[in-house]
Amino acid sequence: MDITPKAVLKHVFGYEDFRGLQQQAIDFVMQGQDVLLLMPTGGGKSICYQIPSLCRPGMGLVISPLIALMDDQVAALRQVGINAGALHSELEPQEAASIRQDMVNGSLDLLYISPERLLSDDMLRFLKRIPLSLIAIDEAHCVSVWGHEFRPEYRLMTNLSSMFPNVPRIALTATADPTTRQDIVASLGMPNAHVLQASFHRTNLFIRALPKDGETKQLLTILQKHKDAACIIYCGSRNKAERVAAMLTGRGFTGLAYHAGLSALEKRAVLLRFRSGEPLIIVATVAFGMGIDRPDVRLVVHLDMPKGPEHYYQQIGRAGRDGDPAETVLLYGGEDIVKARYWLEQSNSDEEQKKIARSRLNTMIAFAETADCRTQILLRCFGEELHEPCGHCDNCKQPVSLMNGTVAAQKVLSAVYRTGQRFGALHIINVLKGKKSDNIENYQHDQLPLFGIGKDKPNQFWRAVIRQLMAKDALRQGVEHSNLFLNQEKALPLLKGNEQLYLREDIAQSITDKSPSYS
Ligand code: ADP
Ligand code: ZN
Repeated sequence: MDITPKAVLKHVFGYEDFRGLQQQAIDFVMQGQDVLLLMPTGGGKSICYQIPSLCRPGMGLVISPLIALMDDQVAALRQVGINAGALHSELEPQEAASIRQDMVNGSLDLLYISPERLLSDDMLRFLKRIPLSLIAIDEAHCVSVWGHEFRPEYRLMTNLSSMFPNVPRIALTATADPTTRQDIVASLGMPNAHVLQASFHRTNLFIRALPKDGETKQLLTILQKHKDAACIIYCGSRNKAERVAAMLTGRGFTGLAYHAGLSALEKRAVLLRFRSGEPLIIVATVAFGMGIDRPDVRLVVHLDMPKGPEHYYQQIGRAGRDGDPAETVLLYGGEDIVKARYWLEQSNSDEEQKKIARSRLNTMIAFAETADCRTQILLRCFGEELHEPCGHCDNCKQPVSLMNGTVAAQKVLSAVYRTGQRFGALHIINVLKGKKSDNIENYQHDQLPLFGIGKDKPNQFWRAVIRQLMAKDALRQGVEHSNLFLNQEKALPLLKGNEQLYLREDIAQSITDKSPSYS
């Protein structure tokens, strides 16, 4: 019997048409070719490996990092009559044995497995005997040190192509910044993979960021508009999530905390209520994430600075999955950023990881402080250029008071250029402020004509200008040495005065030498 992908889509999954890049991705895999599929969460990645693995001879092997997610997928597939199974550490031995039995007799359609399980010698030997239709690597950004959820086990999957030659592979992720993308292709040894990238632009999300000015009061005002809806509030710590949930309950809302400190049973109870469709507010840490699938979330609020644009984008992406208008608000404040930096520096990750973490946090701060279209900045993080302002963010809708920061931008760009594009932000600021340091003296940068031309402004001001130049992509930062260098295409028009850099007046004026130092 010849089963086409389209027939499976209709008769097994009950959908009439493929969406977006699904058809293309499936066609390539059907032809036995490798694919890297970049699609935002909720875009419909799963059927891109589920369908070809049903249509091609052999069993589909799906590598996935999260047990809860695997179990959800397996349950959903079994409901539509597909024989799927998952092998992971929390499985009863009998069940594992029965899955293996099905694999041997060829009746298992799809096997979900964690990378640790997959990479044991025993499992690899066992799998060698099973004909495979494809290998799917879900959450493929976990392979990249540069990605935001690096998992060392993923690194060990480089040999899959030599172990299972002729089996097409499809890597899937919702993280698409260009560095991570290159890293995935290289690490998984898929140089010929077709890279398919969906747009990350969500036109039904209204994006706002507000400086904190009485967090609780601001939160309550925002919630007024969403009394009968499902909302998610993200907090930076478990304690805070508990506190905010209790505060909301005290004021007549249904506020439920969700974080990694809850027992499995408590978590399940919260998820059940969330999925039930009742209006409620989940007050959560990052632990509330994967597998969240409620289409009618109308509001996502961040009370603390997310770690980076990937987290932020994924979290706001949980609003408005049904395509109806939804709102997101980021409340940010200097104190929180100081705290975030403190924790980052205190953490016991190595210097390389810290560098990456700092750069992510800086991107988030630049995003918060920008006077430009927020969607444009966000999409740029995912390698996507939106040519017109979005029209659905606060800066597009209600332009803020601006001050012209072009001269300041020119000073920064010249200082970067004149010092050879080999130094980090601190050195550049020392040059502008006319502050002598060992490096300044060693390189004789105190002899430069522009030494000290930025004396009149506090350090924090220069930090903010540098962040904005990076957000505009006029300045870039070296991955290895954190040195700043120019992106000619965007920097030259600023240097020539053909383009202007605007800074938010509210922010520029609030910066004094006494501001909390969040750089
Ligand atoms: P992702 O893995 O990209 O986050 P999923 O694969 O979980 O997304 O799909 C998100 C939702 O979209 C699911 O509820 C899925 O059933 C639905 N979906 C996927 N493809 C289609 C389609 N072609 N038509 C309609 N709904 C679809
Ligand atoms: Zn906009």
